[in-house]
Amino acid sequence: MSAIIEGTTLLNKNPSNISEVVSEHKILEDFEIEQLIYESQQAFKIWSKTPAPERAKVLARAAQLYADHKEHYSKILHKENGKPIDEARGEIQEVIDTLEFFAGEGRRLYGMVGNSEMPNKTIYTTREPIGPALLITAWNFPAAVPSWKAAPCLIGGNTFILKPSEHAPLSGKIFVDVLNEAGLPHGVAQLAIGDGAVGKKLLERDEIKIVSFTGSTAVGREIAEVAASGFKKCALELGGKNSSIVMPDANLDLVREGLIWGAYGTAGQRCTSTSRLILSKSTSEALLPSFVEEITSLYDKVNNRPSDKYCPIITAKQLRKVDDLVQEAIAEGAELVCGGKILDDGSHQGYFYEPTILKIKPAMKIAKTEVFGPVLSVMELEDKEPEKLLEEAMAISNDVKYGLSNSIFTENMNLGMKALKMFESGLVYFNAPTIGAECGGASFFGGWKQTGNGSREGGVAALDTYTQYKTVSIDYSASLQKAQISNYKSPAS
Ligand code: NAD
Repeated sequence: MSAIIEGTTLLNKNPSNISEVVSEHKILEDFEIEQLIYESQQAFKIWSKTPAPERAKVLARAAQLYADHKEHYSKILHKENGKPIDEARGEIQEVIDTLEFFAGEGRRLYGMVGNSEMPNKTIYTTREPIGPALLITAWNFPAAVPSWKAAPCLIGGNTFILKPSEHAPLSGKIFVDVLNEAGLPHGVAQLAIGDGAVGKKLLERDEIKIVSFTGSTAVGREIAEVAASGFKKCALELGGKNSSIVMPDANLDLVREGLIWGAYGTAGQRCTSTSRLILSKSTSEALLPSFVEEITSLYDKVNNRPSDKYCPIITAKQLRKVDDLVQEAIAEGAELVCGGKILDDGSHQGYFYEPTILKIKPAMKIAKTEVFGPVLSVMELEDKEPEKLLEEAMAISNDVKYGLSNSIFTENMNLGMKALKMFESGLVYFNAPTIGAECGGASFFGGWKQTGNGSREGGVAALDTYTQYKTVSIDYSASLQKAQISNYKSPAS
């Protein structure tokens, strides 16, 4: 485990060096829940009435505090989650960008003005705050994901309690501390440390009006059920089983570079990680040998040392899960191209799994199951003309319960554009791997099918989770006008 719970203490360990305790935290006890909820409600009374441009100033100050100490926070994230320092720096930059973007929204937070069907009447809608929110997050982006949720939540005028993952709670704690240092009124941003049981207890409270959850589809289903019965606004960002289709005319150097980032970045522990590669047999033969060479260099097996681009697996349990799925696939008939072993089960230093490639068939379990590890499943199709090849590849790509991120590599613009239309996922990429989305206006992040429930993060659409509409009708006719009745004229009259 990278998180060890001893009584009411949580030890947060470095998954690439498990003898190192990065931080210690006190787990939230039942009697403290009452206080958190009370503070959140009290603070809501103040924060919801604070003008949005004033709320924005706090977010902008928090962005500046992160920018001032970017290297410090990146190093902490690198230690608690194990991701390479470059990736950690990128994630802290994402926190800064997200805070800046939603600070800008404080000057907009647009509603809408409509046309009344009556004379002397005006109708407009405003976005209004909802109430205390519960933000529950996973460990793989322990700084960025809290910011994706908290920034639109705050700018919308809500308060929140963040329940970060027990496997990487420190970056979440820092996030709340920075917001408070930036000047949030007491109780607007609070932290709840603990495992799923703590999250569940908070979720069940009637006073929580919004829940935003990032994690597995299985837990997401449980969250959705509780939220539905309590009529809470609910946003779910769940698992993925993402694919890249590589057409025969693709730039294979770009594909190689893209797949290393997409499939093996964060050791495949991103919801957007490239988990399936679909291509023709001859393209596979042209691509794989040099690709295998490159991914093998991510971990130095002779000296038992990861390169500075490789990431550990977060927990011993997850390490075993990855290996079990690989061994099951081999038993089912998958061909192991490279990897397929636990490199370090924690007895040397940390939890590492070998960068792995399997050749599989679409009917195998691993073709549809989220692995969340450095494992790429290759599906080779018989060579045929491009339109037919794309059709066949697309049928395989879409035949999963998830719909987060898919990509196509081709130099043929027409085919590429058709593919972008055909993918059944919230994110699609042209000549790029299945990565996440940038932060900002139109760059909405979220998935289709069982990857979520239609909510979006990262762009303006995130405001839909954290605001409710109010429609205001002002009648200055000094008479009783009845919509759909008063102005009706019979065709005969
Ligand atoms: P998880 O579902 O095990 O846990 C996520 C969070 O939920 C943790 O904070 C955990 O303590 C909490 N939790 C667990 N049970 C709970 C319950 N019954 N009630 C309330 N809270 C509960 O997921 P994980 O292992 O931390 O993360 C990996 C998963 O997250 C993968 O499936 C990955 O695809 C997904 N993920 C999705 C996105 C996205 O934006 N779509 C981003 C990152 C990760």
